[in-house]
Amino acid sequence: MHYEGNIIRPPSEANSILLQVTVGCSRNKCTFCGTYRGERFRIKTDNIITDDIAFAAQHCRRQRRVFLCDGDALVIPQKRLLKILTQIEGQLPWVTRVGIYANVKSIEMKSPRELSELNAHGLGIAYMGLETGDDITLKAINKGAGAERMISAGRKIRAAGIKLSVTVLLGIAGRNRSRIHASETGRVLTAIDPEYVGALSLMLIPGTPLCNDYAAGKFELIEPNEMLQELRTMIAHTDLSRGQFHANHASNYLPIKARLPKDKESTLGLIDAALAGKISLKPGYLRAL
Ligand code: SF4
Repeated sequence: MHYEGNIIRPPSEANSILLQVTVGCSRNKCTFCGTYRGERFRIKTDNIITDDIAFAAQHCRRQRRVFLCDGDALVIPQKRLLKILTQIEGQLPWVTRVGIYANVKSIEMKSPRELSELNAHGLGIAYMGLETGDDITLKAINKGAGAERMISAGRKIRAAGIKLSVTVLLGIAGRNRSRIHASETGRVLTAIDPEYVGALSLMLIPGTPLCNDYAAGKFELIEPNEMLQELRTMIAHTDLSRGQFHANHASNYLPIKARLPKDKESTLGLIDAALAGKISLKPGYLRAL
C-alpha cells in the first residue's frame, strides 16, 4: 500500500483495510488539530488508488471493512469517489462496509441523490467531527460551520441511509464556556440523532494555535473532574432514539460505553460515582491520542 504522512482512522476502524485516497485534510484550519498541519491536501492519483485496491484484493482477504483515509475523503468529486467504491465492490466482494471522514462542507457539496448513490455502492458509515454544539466555541476553534449547519449535514447523511458517527471534544470550550458547550452539544446531538457518538478529551498538540493560546494564557485547560462533569451534562442533554455514546477513547479519564436511551441513567450514576471519588480516573500519563 502507498501510505504517505500521518495515517489516522477512527478506533472502530482498527481492523479495516486502510485505503488512503487523499493526503491531508481539505480544511486543515481547526485550531486544536495538528494531524495534518503543514500537509498540502490532495487527492491521490487514480493509478495509485487502483494499485492499492489490487494489493488489498490479494493480501487483505480477511478484512471485512474498508476505511478511506485521510481527512475528509468525502470531498472527492462524485464520479471519482463512485469509481473507487465500484472498484472495491468488484475486487473486494467480501467487504461489507466502507467508511469515510466527512465534514460539513463536503456533505453540503453532495446532493441527497449523490449520497444515496454512494450508499448503494457500499458507503456505510461517515465520521463527522462536531467537537461542540456551541456556536461561539465552533467559531473560536475555526471549525468552519455553526451548529445549525452541523445539524443539517448530519441529518443529510442519515437520510441517505449512511450511518453517522459524530465526535465531540471534552474541554474544547475551556473553563468559561464548559457548561454551555456541554448542554449545547447535547442539544445538537439530539437534533442529529446519530447512530454513534464518540467523546474524546482534549489534549493540546504542540504547534497548534490552541496550544499557543494556552501558553499565552488565553485558553484554560480544564481539570479531569471538570471534563467528567462536562461529559455528565452532555449525556444528560443527549436524547438519541437508538444510539451508542462512547467515551472510551485512550484520551479519556473514565471509559464509558452506553446505549442510549437504555443506559442513560446508569451511565449518569457511574459518572456521579467517579465525581464523588468512588471510582478512580485514568492517570494522565496513560492518556493518549
Ligand atoms: S479536526 Fe478534522 S477537519 Fe479540522 S483540521 Fe483536523 S482533520 Fe481537518
